[in-house]
Amino acid sequence: MTDRHHLGTRIIHTGEPRIDGSAVPPIFQSTVFEQSEPDPSYDSVRYPRLNNTPNHHVVAAKLADLEGAEAAVVTASGMAAISTVILWCLRGGGHALFQNGLYGGTHGLVHHQLAHFGMSASTIEARDPASWEAALRPETKLIYVESLTNPLCQVIDHRKVVDFAKQHGLISVIDNTFASPMNFRAVDFGYDIAVHSATKYLNGHSDLCAGAIAGDRGRVDDIVHLLNLLGGSLDAMGCYLLHRGLRTLELRVGRQNETARRLATFLSEHDAVERVHHPTLPDHPDHALAKELLADCGGVLAFEPAGGVDAAMKVIEALELPIHGPSLGGPETLVTRPCKTSHAGLSPSEREGLGIADHLIRIAVGLEHVDDLCADFDRALRATRT
Ligand SMILES: *Cc1c(COP(=O)(O)O)cnc(C)c1O
Repeated sequence: MTDRHHLGTRIIHTGEPRIDGSAVPPIFQSTVFEQSEPDPSYDSVRYPRLNNTPNHHVVAAKLADLEGAEAAVVTASGMAAISTVILWCLRGGGHALFQNGLYGGTHGLVHHQLAHFGMSASTIEARDPASWEAALRPETKLIYVESLTNPLCQVIDHRKVVDFAKQHGLISVIDNTFASPMNFRAVDFGYDIAVHSATKYLNGHSDLCAGAIAGDRGRVDDIVHLLNLLGGSLDAMGCYLLHRGLRTLELRVGRQNETARRLATFLSEHDAVERVHHPTLPDHPDHALAKELLADCGGVLAFEPAGGVDAAMKVIEALELPIHGPSLGGPETLVTRPCKTSHAGLSPSEREGLGIADHLIRIAVGLEHVDDLCADFDRALRATRT
């Protein structure tokens, strides 16, 4: 596939092996492959953990193309991708700069585990690039950010992150799960490495736990070697499911972008809602930056209903369509209260510092018709008044 085709076309055709003419590659369930070379290297022995079955190759090719990267690899979860990349970057006892407000699993790894491995981390205020330099140490190797933060959809100036990394010889890594490559092609933009929870938009069907890493060929090969030894590889059936999900990525994310935009506007005009957080709204602090840097803003939004925690619990209870649960990117709309899920591990003052109120409701829009969702939220919000 060439660059002259749109991304939505390329996702369908890139990397397809056409084995025996089959439009869909067969699932290579075998854990044994006959050796073709007399003296193979460890990573070239064909074996599912070593990421080299045809099912691995086809999804890796699509993911690399999506991010505008030379190479990619899939992993058994988003955290397998994130932990492998961080351990690889900081091997030998490095230090890293992390954006504030990280995804909960990443926060746990960074702030409660890295020190046990002789690695260290500092948190930077991502909105204040002038403050980053003071956090540098001689052993700083990595700067790590997210494309959109959970749940308030903060967008930082990604140009500044990429430039800062170049200027100080750091590896820049972005967790691009929330934007997805449809809204932000992170490696093409200039990040060295993009990581994903493919559990979310990339698979998009709420039926697979997987992750992905994309970057230049040399780094990805090196990371794959570590991944092969740590063992966080995706099995062939998982690769097949991800492959199936990826084919509709453009359709799904396009729909979710549009639904989130319309639902955010609807809620922002609702008299039982205090505040709505989505970068498509002109009063979002990062509205201008999102418009400049992202193709669109994704399917996650958050709002605070009038009436505090009681009202928030009543709204969630009264909603008929959304499932009350964490995650994002699937066909069904989900609602959660971040103070009870993703941010339950933080202290009340830490949550307050991030602007996450106890009555904040996060919505991850699915693929339902937007009019049905608006009607359901309207009915549930009215129920808080009775
Ligand atoms: C879900 C998620 C992860 C972790 O992914 P898993 O597939 O659950 O391991 C990492 N980062 C972000 C932003 C996520 O939403």
